Amino acid sequence: MDILAAMAEYPYDTHVSTGGERFCMPNKILDPDLKTRDADDTRPGKDFIYCARCSTVIGRISDRTEVNGSFDHHCTNPHGINFHVGCFSQALGCAISGQRMAADSWFPGFRWRIASCEQCQTHLGWYFDRRDTEFFYGLILDRIQYE
Ligand SMILES: [Zn+2]
Repeated sequence: MDILAAMAEYPYDTHVSTGGERFCMPNKILDPDLKTRDADDTRPGKDFIYCARCSTVIGRISDRTEVNGSFDHHCTNPHGINFHVGCFSQALGCAISGQRMAADSWFPGFRWRIASCEQCQTHLGWYFDRRDTEFFYGLILDRIQYE
C-alpha cells in the first residue's frame, strides 16, 4: 500500500495542528522507546512510520501535517536531485545534525538541519524551524515505511 493512501486513512482533524505556532524544542530529542513508551496515548495502533532501511520507529503517521497548504511536496535541491517530501509535526526517531541553514530552504523563512535515522544514520530528510517557535520534519517518503 502506498504511504499516501495509508495516511489518507487517518482523518486530518484528529491530531494534526490546524495552525498557530508550536513551541520549538531546540535540543536533540531521541526517544528509542517511542514504540513502547506512550501507554497513555489514545491514538490508534499501526500508526508508526519506520526507517525503510532498518525498520526503527521514526514517528507516527498521525503526526503528518500540512505546510504551505500541503502534506507532501516535490522538491529539488541545488544539485538537481528531486525529493518527494512529507511533512510531520514530530519525528522522535530522527537524530538532528548540522548547522541551521537558511540557504536553499524549500520553505521560506524556515531554516533546515539534517534529520537522520538515529539507529542506522540514513538520511531521512530535514528538520525545519522558524523563529525558534515553529518546526516540522520534512521526511523523504521513499525512505520511510509503515506497517
Ligand atoms: Zn534506520
